[in-house]
Amino acid sequence: MSQKKDTIARRLELRKSIDEDTGCWIWNGAWNSDGEPVMRVDGKIRLVKHVSAWLFLARPLGSPDCVMHRCNGGKLCISPDHLFRLQSPKTAARLAAKLKMHARGERNGRAKLTEAQVLKIIAIVHDPMLTEIDVAEKLAREFRKPLSPRVVADIRDGRTWTHLEAPK
Ligand SMILES: [Zn+2]
Repeated sequence: MSQKKDTIARRLELRKSIDEDTGCWIWNGAWNSDGEPVMRVDGKIRLVKHVSAWLFLARPLGSPDCVMHRCNGGKLCISPDHLFRLQSPKTAARLAAKLKMHARGERNGRAKLTEAQVLKIIAIVHDPMLTEIDVAEKLAREFRKPLSPRVVADIRDGRTWTHLEAPK
């Protein structure tokens, strides 16, 4: 970690308390009008979840990354283990639409996926904290019917299926 990151990480450390039961890092510092933890970095007010993703998940700080919470600590939790990143809301929506089209086109009796399920898959396959094996195990746990590996790979890689693409 660079010296600059180190200094900021120490400031973040001073403002958090760990919930022993949930592992949440609860922010004790300032928050904005949306109730989101904020801190000043290089003279700019930043969302602490973005700073946390930058420090601990190697996400770029300046980009409008979509960092989501996945615990019950709500907005005040800034633990990098409890954050995950969607590529972007737009990409997520595009992938979800594509997956739904594919699910409709399946003729092997697999259940049609709901939007919530698709979003769950997207969250799992894009979780930077999970290994490939973790992802497979988590998908198997979350979905009782087996998912088509092709469906999952398409979500993960954002691949285009030409036979399903609308003509441009
Ligand atoms: Zn949490």
